[in-house]
Amino acid sequence: MADDEKLRILVVDDDRAARLLMERYLSNTGHEILTATNGVEAMRIILDQGPQIVVTDWNMPEMDGLELCRNIRSNEGCGFIYIVLVTAHTEGNRIVDAYAAGIDDFLPKPFRQKDLVPRLHAAQRLIGLQSDLDKRNLELHRANAQMAVTGEELAHANEKLHELATTDELTGLINRREVLHRFADHWTRAIRYNEPLSCMMIDIDHFKNVNDTLGHDAGDQVLIAVAKALSESTRKGEAVARLGGEEFLVLCPQATEQRAAMGAERLRRVIESLSIDCVGGPCEVTISLGVAQRMESTESPDELLKAADEALYSAKRTGRNQVCLAGNVEPEPDKKSCAPQSPERVTQAHGERARVMALLLDLSRYLIAADGLQYILETTVSGAAELTCSREISILLPSAEHNALTVAHSVGVDPDIAGAVRIPLVSADGCDRLSHRDPIVINTREEFEEQRQLLGTDLLHTIPMLSAVLSVGEHEIGVLNIAGRYGNRPFSALDLEYLGLLCNNAASAIQGQLDHEALDQARDSIVLAFAALAENRDDDTGKHLDRVTRYCMLLAEELRTQPPHEDQITDEFMHSLKRAVPLHDIGKVATPDRILLKPGRLTPDEMEIMKRHAASGAATIRAVMERTPAVDFLKMAEQIAHFHHEWYNGEGYPQGLRGDSIPLGARIASVADVYDALTTKRVYKEAMPYEKAYQIIVEGAGSQFDPVIVEAFKKHHEEFTRLAAELADDCGKDAPAPLAENVGLQLAGPA
Ligand code: GH3
Ligand code: MG
Ligand code: MG
Repeated sequence: MADDEKLRILVVDDDRAARLLMERYLSNTGHEILTATNGVEAMRIILDQGPQIVVTDWNMPEMDGLELCRNIRSNEGCGFIYIVLVTAHTEGNRIVDAYAAGIDDFLPKPFRQKDLVPRLHAAQRLIGLQSDLDKRNLELHRANAQMAVTGEELAHANEKLHELATTDELTGLINRREVLHRFADHWTRAIRYNEPLSCMMIDIDHFKNVNDTLGHDAGDQVLIAVAKALSESTRKGEAVARLGGEEFLVLCPQATEQRAAMGAERLRRVIESLSIDCVGGPCEVTISLGVAQRMESTESPDELLKAADEALYSAKRTGRNQVCLAGNVEPEPDKKSCAPQSPERVTQAHGERARVMALLLDLSRYLIAADGLQYILETTVSGAAELTCSREISILLPSAEHNALTVAHSVGVDPDIAGAVRIPLVSADGCDRLSHRDPIVINTREEFEEQRQLLGTDLLHTIPMLSAVLSVGEHEIGVLNIAGRYGNRPFSALDLEYLGLLCNNAASAIQGQLDHEALDQARDSIVLAFAALAENRDDDTGKHLDRVTRYCMLLAEELRTQPPHEDQITDEFMHSLKRAVPLHDIGKVATPDRILLKPGRLTPDEMEIMKRHAASGAATIRAVMERTPAVDFLKMAEQIAHFHHEWYNGEGYPQGLRGDSIPLGARIASVADVYDALTTKRVYKEAMPYEKAYQIIVEGAGSQFDPVIVEAFKKHHEEFTRLAAELADDCGKDAPAPLAENVGLQLAGPA
C-alpha cells in the first residue's frame, strides 16, 4: 500500500480480547493502528496523533462510545474523523441515537474481517473527498487573501495614479486639469448659494531671463520656490495650481474681487521679498497678477479665467510686479488709432482710484461687521498695508492705567520690539501724544530727528513714515503707524485722504468694540449685584457667589481635560458657566424673609417653601430670555437655577431628575454650592473643617453628586481650600443663612 493511501485507525475498546481481535483484522489491511481502552484515553490520542478513523465500542467505563463520538464532533481540534461504532445494539432506536451522536457507520457484533473491508473503503472515499475539499478550501482562502492584497495594491496604485493625474510633478501643486475640475465645483456652489467667487491669474515676470542667465535648473528652482511661497501665503480654502510654464492660478471661493485683490497684493509682496537660493546664485523675481470676480454676466468658468487673464495682461503691459483687477481693465488701446501716452496713464490713474475706493469700501464693510477687537486690529493693519503699499504697520492703544501707549497689533515689526514699546501719553517735554489731530508725516531724516521723541522710534525705522491718531469725535483712541513703504515713495495728499477714511472707520470700530466690552462688564456686575441681593437681601455676599463661581470654573476646567465631558465643555460653555452660576439662587427673591433669614433649621413646611426658589428662579430667567433671546448664557443660567438641587440618584428637587438628565452645569454647581455651604459659617451652625466637608462630598458621589465631578473635586481639593481661605467671609460679621436648605438636604442624605 502506498504511504498516502495508508490510514491511521484508532481502535477503542475496554475489552482486551475484542481490541486485539480488531487490531489484528485491521493490521491485515496494511493500515496503521492505534489503540485505547476508553473514551478519555481515546480523546487524548485523537488530539495527539490525529487518526482519520475511529472504531469504537459502545459500552465502556469513564466515557462510552456515544459520548466519545459527541466529544469528537464538538471539538474543532479533531478535524474530520470517520467514526465506526461497534455494537450489539442494532435495534432501530438505539442506532438512530448513535447516528444523532455523530457516527458515520456501525458494525454489528459479532463481526468478521470481511465485514470491515467495505466500511474501510467507504471511509477511505469520504476521507479522500474531505481532504480534497480541505485543499480546495485552503486554495480558495489563499486566493482570497491574494485578492485582498491585490485589491490593496490596486487601491494604492489608483491613489498614486490619481496623484499623478492631479499634481504638477515639478512643484507638487495641483495641476491645470485638477484646478479646472475644482473650479467647476466652486462655480456651481457660487451660483447655488449666491456667493462671490474670484480667481487670480499669476505669471512670473521676465522669467525667461532667469533661464537665460542662471540656467534651466535654476529656473526650475525658482518655480519650486515661488510655488511653495504661493501655497504658504494663500488663505485657508484657496487653491493654488500651476497652470503650466511660469503661470499659476489661485481660486478664491467666497471672495469678492476686492478681497481677492488684497490677497493678491500680499502674494505679490511675499514673492518680491523672496531671495531664492539657486544653483547659479541667489535670485529674486517678481510676479504680475490679474484678479477677476464672477459677475451675473459671466457665463462660464472659462470666461472668468479669461477676464483674470486680461487683467494679468494689463498688469504686464503697465509695468509688471503689480495687481490688476478685471473690473478696472480698460480695453486695450487700438494700436492703429495710435493713442498717445498720456491718456493711457490717465485711465490707469482712474483705475487706481477706483481700486482704492473699492478696497476702502470693502474694508469698512469688514470693520462694521467685525466681531472682536483683534479682528478689527488685524483688518485695519492689513488694510493700511494694502492701501499704502507698506511693510511695517502698528496700532497702539492706551495701556490699562491709561498713562502710556502699547502695541495692540503689528505686522513687519520685530515682535520683541513691539512687545517692549511703551510710549508715555505725555512726553518728557509735556506734549500730549494724542493731541496731534493731523497725521505726522516724515519724509526726511531731519524731520525724523525732530519728531523722534513723539514717535516712539523703536517702532519706525524706514523713511518715509507716518503716524496718525485714531479718534472718534473729540475722543482719541490710539495711534496708527506706517513705515517701510514699497519703493520709498513719499506720502501724497491722496494717500493721506485715503488713510484718513480708513482711520475714521477703524477708530469707530475700535471704540464700538471697547464700548461693547465695557457694556458687557457693566452688565455682569449688575447681574452679580442682583444675584447677591436675591441671596440674602443685602448686596454683601458677593463672596459666596464669587467662591461658588470659582469652584465651578475649577471643576469645569478639570472636566474638560478628558472624557466624558471634554467635547461638551467648550470655550462657550466656560464663558456661559461663569456668568450663569451667580444666578443659581436668583429665585430666592420670592422666598419670605422669615424663612430665608431664619437663624435655625427649617421646619418641613418652611423647607417646602424654600424649595420653590429653584423653579421660580428658572421662571424668572426664562422671562428675561424671552426679551433677550440673543444672550446665550441665560439658557445655562436657567438650567442651573432650576436643577442645582437635583441629586444624581434622583432624590433631589424640584423634579427628581437623575443622572445625566440633570444638565451638566447644574451638576457642577451642585457640588460647588454644597461645598461652600458646608465650609462657611452660618448663624445656625459653625463652618465645617475643610477635611470634613471633603469627606461629605466624596461620600455623596453617586448619590447626591455626579461621581465624575466628585473625582474632579478630589483632584483639586487643595485649590478649593485655598480659594475658600482666600475668599473667606469677613470675620466677626455673621452672614445670614442663605443655604440652609442645602445643608438640610445634605444632613438628610445618605448617612
Ligand atoms: P513676462 O514677464 O512677459 O511673463 O516674460 P517671461 O520671460 O516670463 O515670459 P515668456 O512667456 O516669454 O517666457 C516664459 C519662459 O518660461 C519660457 C520658458 O522657457 C520658461 N519655462 C516654461 N516652463 C518652464 C519650466 O518648467 N522650467 C524652466 N526652467 N523654465 C520654464
Ligand atoms: Mg512670465
Ligand atoms: Mg508666461
